[in-house]
Amino acid sequence: APAQIAVTGLAVMGRNLARNLARNGFRVAVHNRSKSRTDALIEEFGHEGEFTPADDLPALVASLEQPRKIIIMVKAGEPTDAVIDELVPLLDEGDIVVDAGNAHFADTRRRENALREKGLHFVGSGVSGGEEGALNGPSIMPGGSPESYAALGPILTKISAHVNGEPCCVHVGPDGAGHFVKMLHNGIEYADMQLIAEAYDLLRQVLGLSPAELADVFRDWNSGDLESFLIEITAEVLSQVDPTTGGPFVDVVLDQAEQKGTGRWTVQVALDLGIPVSGMAEAVFGRSLSGDVVRRSAAAGVLPGPAEAKADVDRDAFIEDVRHALYASKLVAYAQGFDAIRAASEQYDWDIDLGAMATIWRGGCIIRARFLDRIKEAYDRNPALPSLLVDDYFKEAVANGQEAWRRVVATAASVGVPAPGFSAALSYYDGLRAERLPAALIQGLRDLFGAHTYRRVDRDGAFHLDWSGDRTESPA
Ligand code: NDP
Repeated sequence: APAQIAVTGLAVMGRNLARNLARNGFRVAVHNRSKSRTDALIEEFGHEGEFTPADDLPALVASLEQPRKIIIMVKAGEPTDAVIDELVPLLDEGDIVVDAGNAHFADTRRRENALREKGLHFVGSGVSGGEEGALNGPSIMPGGSPESYAALGPILTKISAHVNGEPCCVHVGPDGAGHFVKMLHNGIEYADMQLIAEAYDLLRQVLGLSPAELADVFRDWNSGDLESFLIEITAEVLSQVDPTTGGPFVDVVLDQAEQKGTGRWTVQVALDLGIPVSGMAEAVFGRSLSGDVVRRSAAAGVLPGPAEAKADVDRDAFIEDVRHALYASKLVAYAQGFDAIRAASEQYDWDIDLGAMATIWRGGCIIRARFLDRIKEAYDRNPALPSLLVDDYFKEAVANGQEAWRRVVATAASVGVPAPGFSAALSYYDGLRAERLPAALIQGLRDLFGAHTYRRVDRDGAFHLDWSGDRTESPA
């Protein structure tokens, strides 16, 4: 029988996705530019299901039932375009091409448009969970047309992660919506990791706890509201002993965080959308600072810190305070992330169901967490929720922790431990809830130096003050 679906690109992700499909009973055609990867897959894992190896794309296309469904899982960027260009002339109207790599959603919109004009469906689909997820059930965020999802949905939901019997795969929306949401997932992942790192740093520097003791703290946190994959693996990394020195593993790792770019994309896009995503921005900047060896080495041990770098805090009370600060900051990061999704959905007419996005992320992906249920519930209660932070659950969660959060940010500042994620989140929260912001002064300044005009609190219209003359006000 012809294959039901194909995967081209058999590096770690594509190979595991193909195995996942085969293990779930689908007949999978497989192809890779260098044949050796195809051969290795068949030799090592051919027994796991029905694979049809293909030496080239024409053979791959010929082995498929129609309408064809072909998943591209190659290096993002030009390689994806190269594969699409080679594939398209081989296809027939109605065939479906899925890009499951980490494409920028703007590229996905361009590709979808080009293929639509040729009568083909192009589906940009986010896939999260790394190689482990690809094999055992990833979180899947497909974009593209409803028709393409009608054909792909039964396959994708079957191979995705499941939580309480529900698949972590939902049709996100047309064209680039799936890749946008995947990008946002990665941005939130950056923010989450930054906040976890700040919590670790503060507890270590203020309380002098060892990495092993800190592993216990995170393990304990993982049994409460913070329960999540990232908190779980934080405990694992902190308890790891370095095989060479016998000391804590975390102490032998170079403290320069790298990035592949999806976090930076998120922040760039949010700037264009005009949505503050300060948690993600601080996370990206934090990684950049960590890697800025020239300036760090010029400043380390040279720039003075506070005279008194010790805080007079109770051990258990401070641990609990940091837990609150972490949770509250995390809620802010998610609220900002969902704001960005909402704004993009409006801008591009994607009509994204925000609550459903939280369900996609409950399993399979890196940010999987217990509290995503809370996001789903919040949007179920009110689909038009202006911000997650004003939902009753979130409001109360932050209210319960805010005094602790403020103490932690104050302690960080007074002992000189950087906590950009915690403090940016707190500033955002205070900015959001402020009844009046100093933006009024900014508008005054803008009108003075550039005649940019201002609006008034007491009547409609734009106005300008004659700053260089008699200071009368006139309508602009
Ligand atoms: P890589 O990103 O390392 O890409 C390697 C694959 O791309 C190989 O199959 C390679 O073929 C193929 N390739 C590269 N250039 C071309 C080209 N010009 N024409 C045809 N094929 C080409 O593989 P990964 O498995 O790590 O990732 C695949 C995709 O999944 C990427 O887009 C990545 O961003 C995304 N992704 C990765 C995750 C991860 O955890 N690694 C998680 C989620 C998504 P060859 O063997 O011939 O060199």
